[in-house]
Amino acid sequence: MITNRRLGAHVSCAGGLTKAITNTLAIGGNAMQIFAGSPRMWARTLYSSSLASSFRLSVRQHDLNPVYIHALYLTNLASDNPELVAKSKSALIMDLTNSAAIGSAGVVLHIGSHQGRGWSNVQGYVISQIKEVLGNTPSESILLLENSAGQQGKIGSLLELGEIITALPNQRLKICLDTAHAFEAGYNFTTENGLEMWIKEIETTVGLDKVELLHLNDSKTKLGSGHDMHQNIGDGYLGTQALARLINHPSLAHLPLILEVPGDGSGPDKANIDRVKQMFS
Ligand SMILES: [Zn+2]
Ligand SMILES: [Zn+2]
Repeated sequence: MITNRRLGAHVSCAGGLTKAITNTLAIGGNAMQIFAGSPRMWARTLYSSSLASSFRLSVRQHDLNPVYIHALYLTNLASDNPELVAKSKSALIMDLTNSAAIGSAGVVLHIGSHQGRGWSNVQGYVISQIKEVLGNTPSESILLLENSAGQQGKIGSLLELGEIITALPNQRLKICLDTAHAFEAGYNFTTENGLEMWIKEIETTVGLDKVELLHLNDSKTKLGSGHDMHQNIGDGYLGTQALARLINHPSLAHLPLILEVPGDGSGPDKANIDRVKQMFS
């Protein structure tokens, strides 16, 4: 089947930024997500303009847009430790700056955890941190807030994301929805009716027009587990039928798909990409 659907995966840049292109081509993707630096270290360096422009050119030549950057998992914009928040913000500012340099469609962010203090107690603080980040980054860079599985005070329910979006009306702020996280947070979209209810809730909280990207992952844990564990496409509690219905739903069928599945242990592979291609209708 010929389709122009954008589909790719989180791929490694180990060995250099251009490796992301090789790795995406190897699995048959036409979009990608990367870490702009080490996922385990705070330090970030800015891409040189020559590296950034050769990457952009190569992405265009191979038709691999959109490219997303995933922010560090260490990030916490809701911590009561000001040093951690400061580190989080400067890494995020670097990621957004690099994102603009390579023509990326956005930086995906897990906002962080309120560590049991409750959303209402940190809401104003988190919003002001995000506002500060947007104010210190290139105007063409996009920040994508991701929904969470609801574990351990992790911020990112649809309601919380909706409140942030409402408080910060900004074209540069968008949403990434992860299917595994949504299911683990309690949305049972394995049925037609459940999918409609989830989409309705997206519409009334963040707004469908704000959704830029789907992280397409099966779930290794049960509905409402609050436990974030991704599984290969079709092998988890979501299954092929539910995922196929979701990606082809008229309200979501235009969205790029990025896989963050384990593969055979070394990350998303061609087998997973091929499974998704089989689902396109
Ligand atoms: Zn994700
Ligand atoms: Zn996850």
